[in-house]
Amino acid sequence: MSCGKPFKTMKTLIPALFLALISVTAIFAKGGPAINDKCPVDGKTVRIIYRVFTDAGTVAFCCVDCMESYKTSPSRYTVTPKPSGR
Ligand SMILES: [Zn+2]
Repeated sequence: MSCGKPFKTMKTLIPALFLALISVTAIFAKGGPAINDKCPVDGKTVRIIYRVFTDAGTVAFCCVDCMESYKTSPSRYTVTPKPSGR
């Protein structure tokens, strides 16, 4: 007879808290608006809470998976700056 259930609740709570923290950080953090509006990894519309600061500026992603993929090997992906701004 095993009894491991109480820990499952904690494991789902922690990522939720983490995401909330990222959202708050994204609102108040400096770094400027994202230079792109399409995810460099899969081309979807970005959400500003998922972003990485690069030499070219703030690069945004559609989801945390894409952000992690980019962070692992930035040279594999091409960031296309959004057309507005000229
Ligand atoms: Zn993506």
